[in-house]
Amino acid sequence: MKAHDGMYIDGAWRPAAGTGTIEVTNPADGTLLATVPAGGPEDVAAAVRAARAALPGWAATPPAERAARLDALRRILTDRREEIARTVTAELGSPLTLSQKVHAAVPIAVCTGYAELAAAYSFEERLGNSLVLREPVGVVGAITPWNYPLHQIVAKAAPALAAGCTMVLKPAEDTPLVAQLFAEAVDEAGVPAGVFNLVTGLGPVAGQALAEHEDIDLLSFTGSTAVGRRIGAAAASGVKRVALELGGKSANVVLPGADLAKAVKAGVANVMSNSGQTCSAWTRMLVDSERYEEAVRLAAEATAKYTTGDPLDEATRVGPLVNAAQRERVTGYIERGREEGARLVAGGAEPPEGAERGHYVRPTVFADVTPGMTIAQEEIFGPVLSLLKYEDTEDALRIANGTVYGLAGAVWSEDEEEAVAFARRMETGQVDINGGRFNPLAPFGGYKQSGVGRELGVHGLEEYLQTKSLQL
Ligand code: NAP
Ligand code: MG
Repeated sequence: MKAHDGMYIDGAWRPAAGTGTIEVTNPADGTLLATVPAGGPEDVAAAVRAARAALPGWAATPPAERAARLDALRRILTDRREEIARTVTAELGSPLTLSQKVHAAVPIAVCTGYAELAAAYSFEERLGNSLVLREPVGVVGAITPWNYPLHQIVAKAAPALAAGCTMVLKPAEDTPLVAQLFAEAVDEAGVPAGVFNLVTGLGPVAGQALAEHEDIDLLSFTGSTAVGRRIGAAAASGVKRVALELGGKSANVVLPGADLAKAVKAGVANVMSNSGQTCSAWTRMLVDSERYEEAVRLAAEATAKYTTGDPLDEATRVGPLVNAAQRERVTGYIERGREEGARLVAGGAEPPEGAERGHYVRPTVFADVTPGMTIAQEEIFGPVLSLLKYEDTEDALRIANGTVYGLAGAVWSEDEEEAVAFARRMETGQVDINGGRFNPLAPFGGYKQSGVGRELGVHGLEEYLQTKSLQL
């Protein structure tokens, strides 16, 4: 695949300061796709300088003009959507149909939303004798993961640009190609030089240099809780704003009386999608003791239909995991589940048949999972579902809230009011009621250790603003 051998800094592709490179491989077969430069502190410093220099001009650009650039960006991404889908499939391994419907389509929807919001949002309001101004927070450092590689970039870049901020992006080392494609689109959209800058590189090198750079005003990170914790600490010591989108262990609560077949089918689909590499996945399914065995049977049957294989094959529903380390991590959790006494009812730790080369893991379901088990507490980030049994709704609530995380969740009930009442008591940032669909304008983010701050929609825009009041 085509790749740039430089960094996109101050409106042009420029040679990296060092000579290090990152090899980008296809997780389906291990072939080399491209190499990109591995940036270091000097590249980060150059990018931050460019962003700082561009800030006064972009912050003073009328919101309608910023909206026009985002609208141009939306148009370019739309024109290139098939190329986006194919790039994500190549470097992430997601089935092409998923790449088209989600990895390409969702960022376009988010970009469209921010083009409209930038034009419509009131950046000033009168409050008694005060004029309250919502000003851009400044230079943003953005660090993103590989699991929804373009979505996670756009969920930061679109609101940052709409707000009048400038930024430096350090994307995941596994998926830099779609990040380069995005930088090309920003350039073509006529976003002024220095407003958006891209530094490809390794987390502990380029990522850390960005997180610790003293001239960043807001650090926005999506990824693991372990790295997020360190970034939060570095930001706090520099008195910088920080936004963290971290892991999850979300509960899918099937209340007695809910349509069990529908809830289980949707629950399995939610976990297996993107090979389970979704921070908001409903990885714990909670079912009442009376219908528990039926749910186990339905989940095992549904999972058997999730064919693993070549992401370009139309019959494939589950592609490989992103890399060998993730595969080892996930199969390690499957072994751990067996050791701790959970009952394996689908899948397992052995690689699927015919998958000698790629980083494949069998879609797996565990029954008899108890709340204290590792597979009920830790984020696995693979196609692994844990089924837990509850005695009554208070027990279900206790189990649902009984992890350090709180990112997403689901509730199923024959009575929507009952489901909403239950969801109000859940310690989590998003709950889908009876299969309510994804809304790109709804705030997304975590309670507890799932993070700090919200992305998407108007709530996501406001993360990039700071408030000034003038008393008249
Ligand atoms: P990660 O290490 O947290 O990666 C996220 C981003 O942070 C990447 O761009 C990464 O760069 C960068 N990074 C890594 N170390 C850093 C450091 N010391 N300073 C600054 N930036 C740093 O996540 P991962 O290793 O890819 O995945 C591990 C686990 O994290 C997964 O199994 C999953 O549980 C969780 N995860 C969660 C999400 C989510 O959406 N919440 C997304 C991905 C992963 P590199 O790409 O070079 O490592
Ligand atoms: Mg990493």
